[in-house]
Amino acid sequence: EAKAMPGSGFRFFDAALAADVQARSAIEHDLARAIRADEFFLEYQPIVGVESRTVRAFEALLRWQHPEKGRIMPDMFIPAAEKTGLILPLGNWVVREACREAATWPAPAGVAINVVGDQFKDRAFVGYVKQCLMETGLAPGRLTIEVTESVFSVDETVIRESLSELRSHGVRVALDDFGIGFSSINNLRAFPIDQLKIDRSFARAMMESKRDADLVDIILKLGRTFQVTTTVEGIESEGQLDFIRQRGASEAQGYLISGPVAGPDVMRFLAQTDNRLSA
Ligand code: C2E
Ligand code: MG
Ligand code: MG
Ligand code: MG
Repeated sequence: EAKAMPGSGFRFFDAALAADVQARSAIEHDLARAIRADEFFLEYQPIVGVESRTVRAFEALLRWQHPEKGRIMPDMFIPAAEKTGLILPLGNWVVREACREAATWPAPAGVAINVVGDQFKDRAFVGYVKQCLMETGLAPGRLTIEVTESVFSVDETVIRESLSELRSHGVRVALDDFGIGFSSINNLRAFPIDQLKIDRSFARAMMESKRDADLVDIILKLGRTFQVTTTVEGIESEGQLDFIRQRGASEAQGYLISGPVAGPDVMRFLAQTDNRLSA
């Protein structure tokens, strides 16, 4: 028999977990319908140069506007989309929509898209990206494909070939959420990338502990050694921005600059940024 005190705690935990599992499985069932019903849209979060504060790119972030449940964020449904294989049509939609939208922005502002390993397993994916670029007229150099290190658990040859083909076409490749999970210097040696995005957990931690500050310093040096753009995610304060500027980061992303904005607001954001600079 369970002891009264810890038992009640565990029961609470189980209930919360069960509710979460149930919510996710309901989402799985709903995803296919939602794709057919066109319930998805993108928001765009600016990434700026640390020195210039001018916009380099906007990261496309997927949202699901559910007719009853309201807005659902990607952490709730991307895992379900991967599990059901629906990430393939959904991911293709993201590519086309982001390219179409970005083609209307003034150059050189680019767009970054998040892509998961399963999308590369579909060997048609890279061709699909090229086709979208051609049809929308977006210059390949204005597109960045963000992958996390979990893609390296997919067949290495497939990933290497896909990333190489994208890069030789002029598309940029970024390693997202770097510093957590399976981070390995070997991934930097073995896979061709253009950009390192340091996970947002570091932006907070580096202000609180010397160890984390040193780690950020080392990752930034690593980026310079491999001659890649270094972007720090999750910048929420001027203090954090100063900190990474002093340590030579190239780019910043985070609520200090702006949260994700709706598609139609991108042009307004660009105009405001220009105003600030000329002011
Ligand atoms: P990510 O690629 O690391 O995207 C950044 C996430 O951090 C976004 O959350 C963004 O809103 C949030 N964020 C940005 N700045 C700050 C900040 O200053 N502070 C804090 N606390 N958070 C900040 P979001 O939109 O909920 O996306 C979560 C994750 O979902 C993304 O993480 C990405 O891995 C995934 N995701 C989003 N869109 C797509 C997509 O189209 N396809 C795939 N496969 N994954 C996507
Ligand atoms: Mg990302
Ligand atoms: Mg990220
Ligand atoms: Mg992250």
